[in-house]
Amino acid sequence: MLRRTPEVLACLALGSNIEPVARLRAALAALKRLPESRLLKVSRWYRTRPWGIEDQPEFINLAVTLATRLEPLALLAETQAIERALGRTRGQRNGPRTIDLDILLHGEQTLDMPELRLPHPALTWRDFMLIPLIEIAPDVVHPERGRPLAELVDEIRYRQIIAPLSGADAQEAGCEPGVEGVSG
Ligand code: ADP
Ligand code: MG
Repeated sequence: MLRRTPEVLACLALGSNIEPVARLRAALAALKRLPESRLLKVSRWYRTRPWGIEDQPEFINLAVTLATRLEPLALLAETQAIERALGRTRGQRNGPRTIDLDILLHGEQTLDMPELRLPHPALTWRDFMLIPLIEIAPDVVHPERGRPLAELVDEIRYRQIIAPLSGADAQEAGCEPGVEGVSG
């Protein structure tokens, strides 16, 4: 009998500050087509302040959850392929970017390789990673902390969120404010 890898819950962070609405919609569409995976939930879209280099446009950041049978490195290959397809080039560190797809969690996996660190080391420090994810996965346990994400907000060190997109902007983005689930 064919053995299949069990499904695990993977959590991703998406961000963009160059034509972000169109890029994030395209990234979500691509995530819906990922092999061996089902897109489960999409957070609200958050306007965030850039970090490091401040003289650049605001970012939009959001989080998604997936049920996937892809191993961590296979998932990374898929998310990097989506980045490339959407015009990602590695430019200035912390500079403007067309699209950034980070893997925040892959089930209970912990990994410390240069190409893939799990859980994502900045998950609990950066509000734009943790807050959107708590919206859609509050009870998921952080494998290193052994506590649910919702209990880790005190670890946030960098506050960059301005506000969730609201009203017409959210509608244009295909993101109904406050509504969970797959949009667009
Ligand atoms: P940023 O740190 O701003 O996300 P990049 O998107 O350019 O910068 O990623 C730099 C490198 O980080 C990539 O080559 C990727 O292999 C590596 N990396 C390590 N851990 C992760 C992770 N959890 N998710 C995504 N990329 C990761
Ligand atoms: Mg990245």
